[in-house]
Amino acid sequence: MTPDTRAREFDAADPLGHFRARFRLPEGVIYLDGNSLGALPKATPGTLARVVESEWGDGLIRSWNDANWFDMAARVGAKIAPLIGARPNEVIACDSTSVNLFKLIAAALAMRPGRKAVLSEPGNFPTDLYMIAGLEAQGLAQRRLAPREQLAAALDGDVALLMLTHAHYKTGALHDMAALTRAAHDAGALVLWDLSHSTGALPVDLDAVGADFAVGCGYKYLCGGPGAPAFAFVAEQHQAELQQPLTGWFGHAAPFAFSDDYAGAAGIERLQCGTPPVLGLAALEVGVDLIAEIGVDRLYAKSQALSEFFLESLMAHDVALDLVSPPRAADRGSQLSFRHPQAYAICQALIARGVIGDFRAPDVLRLGFAPAYLSFADMAAAARHIAEVLASGEWQREEFNQRAAVT
Ligand SMILES: *Cc1c(COP(=O)(O)O)cnc(C)c1O
Repeated sequence: MTPDTRAREFDAADPLGHFRARFRLPEGVIYLDGNSLGALPKATPGTLARVVESEWGDGLIRSWNDANWFDMAARVGAKIAPLIGARPNEVIACDSTSVNLFKLIAAALAMRPGRKAVLSEPGNFPTDLYMIAGLEAQGLAQRRLAPREQLAAALDGDVALLMLTHAHYKTGALHDMAALTRAAHDAGALVLWDLSHSTGALPVDLDAVGADFAVGCGYKYLCGGPGAPAFAFVAEQHQAELQQPLTGWFGHAAPFAFSDDYAGAAGIERLQCGTPPVLGLAALEVGVDLIAEIGVDRLYAKSQALSEFFLESLMAHDVALDLVSPPRAADRGSQLSFRHPQAYAICQALIARGVIGDFRAPDVLRLGFAPAYLSFADMAAAARHIAEVLASGEWQREEFNQRAAVT
């Protein structure tokens, strides 16, 4: 049976197949980049139009109360909470992932006086490493990097915080959250998980593993739109003592008391800094509602089935690419990455055929399998395009070898 025939059978039996119609996907595009920018839910433009026309246009400033803009960050956070195994009062949607990292790294350092090291791994997502470096330049932190096999051994009495990305952005390799959280706690350190490549694609249980802090992205699998607000998680038992350094008025216990002195809100609201981005939150809420409706466990099952079928389809076309993701589906996130010296040009040639993946320097072709809207037919067709691009050598064309600013 050819991959295309098998794909038809899988699609016919797919319980999530009908959710594809809830997203707007351009004709002729196979979108394998939902792990960088999730697709547009069809409900988003209408929701945004209503928020703009009615809540902003007609309601004007009254909408802070009448349309519940004031509580929006906490409300959207509470909807993200069950997707990551958190309680509703432990998550807030605010700022960017980078800014949330800054606030939570600083807060963790303040909770471990006498310890300055923030332990992470080389090759973690750049912004995660840069945010540690920024606090280091302020004299507040010491950045310590250890390869994954040596992380546990690097947890000594100087480490205030272990900070890792659950699903690696480049390879998709997963960390054992439970084991590493336990090891960090045994060494007296706190733990911050970056869930940017997990949330909305894989089940995560922050409360069960005893995580202290977490952050994640709104515009990847949550489909919140470009530059969507991110989220931050603080375990309930840390909220009362949490001191985050961006003490803006929206994190105040009573912003509209206009006091001269800062007093942080009692709960997760303390993580807010300035006025929340209402339009961004409105778009994010649509994506979160849709992902929650589909359900993380079903999304995860489909994500594994998609990536396994994609590998089978490549094999059926005799494509031998160097897989840098873990070969076992259980060990990786919702993506497959391949190393090739010409990965950039191959990626461009695929985009010209409507197969949109991405390139990660220096030599990785990264394909994301957003399970909410991809079909098995997409997998079979993408594998066929890759086989044709490699066999024809069309990636060698001049136009596919010009680097753009965003890869
Ligand atoms: C995408 C991603 C980010 C993005 O951070 P922004 O502040 O939203 O630009 C951070 N960390 C990881 C691991 C990511 O994958």
